[in-house]
Amino acid sequence: LLISGMKQLVEVINKLQDAFSCTCSLHLQLPMIAVVGGQSAGKSSVIEAIAGRDFLPRGTGTVTRRPLILQMIPDAKEYVEFLHQPETKFTDFEAVRKEIQEATDKEVPDKAISSRPINLRLYSPYVLQLTLVDLPGLTKNPVNDQPTNIEQLLRDMILEYIEPENTLILAVIPAPEDLANSDALKLARQVDPAGERTIGVLTKLDLMDRGTDAREVLENKIIPLKRGYVGVVNRSQADITGGKSMKAAREAEEAFFKENYKNLTGRVGTKVLQQVLNRQLEEHIREKLPGIRSFPNLKQEVLIRVMEQLRRNESSCKELLDTYLEAECAFMNTNHILMKRSDVLAEAD
Ligand code: GDP
Ligand code: MG
Repeated sequence: LLISGMKQLVEVINKLQDAFSCTCSLHLQLPMIAVVGGQSAGKSSVIEAIAGRDFLPRGTGTVTRRPLILQMIPDAKEYVEFLHQPETKFTDFEAVRKEIQEATDKEVPDKAISSRPINLRLYSPYVLQLTLVDLPGLTKNPVNDQPTNIEQLLRDMILEYIEPENTLILAVIPAPEDLANSDALKLARQVDPAGERTIGVLTKLDLMDRGTDAREVLENKIIPLKRGYVGVVNRSQADITGGKSMKAAREAEEAFFKENYKNLTGRVGTKVLQQVLNRQLEEHIREKLPGIRSFPNLKQEVLIRVMEQLRRNESSCKELLDTYLEAECAFMNTNHILMKRSDVLAEAD
């Protein structure tokens, strides 16, 4: 009962994320997992591994210039829908990559960055219910004709996404680098000093210096995070250029961990990462439920938007109201389920 209640709640939160992706202040209050890290830390590789498909724009320099809110939804068929183009179902992942690129260039033609997100949904038999946000990587120096204050601009945008208490932070850290120097952890600590809503992901474990390993980091002994660390191995550039498939990459990853991190199986591998994230997002939603439940600004924002839409005679205001009502219902149901559960637990005591 509790599980189906949570599933329903995550679905409704997905809908709310779509409905409010324009009113930034509100969509940022909804629970999601923001992926942060330095440029080339392996963020895109981690997201694609979790999604089981490659579809993110690639290249050198700042490729991700708008946040990408990716909702993954388990489904028998595999396809992608963009919020800005709801009538098209993409089944070709090359076309998805192209659409992301075009949507980026349209919003920010001059290679600058924008905090307005691109929203997309991936329906797939291979995913667990999860919402991830891909953010531009941190860089320190402007290249080509980037604004001179690019570091500050990027930092501000990332902070805008990870500051809300409802966001879980996925800090992507290349294992060969010293943990103490991690940009991702530094940013995460700025908004989450106690490490309560940060999850560490160590990438590139295959590239560590011979004779060293990341055991102590994975055992949460170096810079402890309440939610701990997970280690992964993704495809190298040579693997990608050589056309290594996702499936082959996962098999190679599994073999690597079997050989090198035998007794840490609960803390390594993309499959483990998927499960950890799914569980933690659900737990996080449940923890934050009272806060979301009260929806301090929701009613007001919904009303303002509905009135604007009415004035412009847009039919979408009905959809907005429906989403809102559905959300109210789901929250009440979930609260009810949670209350029942605590009754049962109290009786058991
Ligand atoms: P992003 O800039 O943080 O999104 O980083 P990418 O995911 O694009 O990865 C940067 C580069 O590192 C790419 O060439 C990847 O192929 C490579 N890479 C990412 N993860 C790993 C890994 O675990 N092992 C190896 N050997 N290479 C990796
Ligand atoms: Mg990237």
